[in-house]
Amino acid sequence: MSEIGTISVLEQVVQGLSDTERERFARIYRVDSAVGQLKAPATMHDWIRNQFGSVKAVQAQRVVKVTNLITLEGALFNELRASRPMEAVSTPGPLRDSINELGDSFCRPLEATPEDVFGRVRGTHCVTASNVAKCDGFHGIVVFDEHDPLRFSAEQVADYFDTALQWARQAHCLDAEARYFFLLWNCLWRSGASILHGHMQMTLGRGIHYARVEHLRRAALLYRVAHATDYFDDLYAVHEALGLTAQWGRTRILSHLTPIKEKEVILLSKCLDEDLKEAVYRVLRCYVHELAVSSFNLALYMRPIDSVVEDWRDFPMVVRIVDRGDLNNKTADMGAMELYASSVISSDPFAVARALQPAFAPA
Ligand SMILES: [Zn+2]
Repeated sequence: MSEIGTISVLEQVVQGLSDTERERFARIYRVDSAVGQLKAPATMHDWIRNQFGSVKAVQAQRVVKVTNLITLEGALFNELRASRPMEAVSTPGPLRDSINELGDSFCRPLEATPEDVFGRVRGTHCVTASNVAKCDGFHGIVVFDEHDPLRFSAEQVADYFDTALQWARQAHCLDAEARYFFLLWNCLWRSGASILHGHMQMTLGRGIHYARVEHLRRAALLYRVAHATDYFDDLYAVHEALGLTAQWGRTRILSHLTPIKEKEVILLSKCLDEDLKEAVYRVLRCYVHELAVSSFNLALYMRPIDSVVEDWRDFPMVVRIVDRGDLNNKTADMGAMELYASSVISSDPFAVARALQPAFAPA
């Protein structure tokens, strides 16, 4: 493992890798950088120093563009933004108060939420409901017993995953053609969650997996054809060589080089086992307690829940987790760049890895 770096010197860090590691990196990633320059009038200097530390730092700023050549995911890192310390910001009183406010419909799921045609699945710490306005033929909710979405234990997180999967099996029993399972957790307002009470959602689709999941399956298949090696193994190995990974049992965790948005972490596992569920919990605990994340999205990509015609042989369980920013900020974190070009990122994946690794240190 090379000495841990920063994203602004990624090209140099890659140059320091062994030939094999460099070749593997180049199979998946391309790095380009640019220096953006400007002239600031003296009247702006005080403000610039206040915002960014120094005028010099703003006059010539390095932007590193990382492109995944296999999936065509891309990220633009600005050194100026990435070098800012990741400070823990506490959620101010009024926001905390509104999170604590009990009495929403998910506080009384049996009376205030519909159930699926096959009934409810009960976990130890949650119960399922049927989504009122559906994304797909089957669209359910795991309603947590715990109201506060930022309070969770390893046991609770594992129970939520198990319950969601149990729900999928029941839906599949009812409709054998529905087999494409997708699990998501939108936590608090900035993530798209409309109800703040802790909950996950899950869907079970027909015909073809959701577009992004199918895209990743196809990209990985083409990678195998082109390079006779596994895309996910290489993706992990590339991150490992750069010091961006951690491991928990059989679960592999990486701080993503082309994050969809801030601090994205990806977990890879052969199956949805205890290691994966515990690792998800540990990432989220680190998010909330070390990185002051208060709103996040989590998604689980997995192969269809029964055997199908498409080739899903090498497709692992993929969990993606991303920070959606400060609850106090009115400005959306994603704009046209993220939707239509490449994501603009402030957090340094190397700093995220450094924050994450202690959570996976052997006891
Ligand atoms: Zn509630």
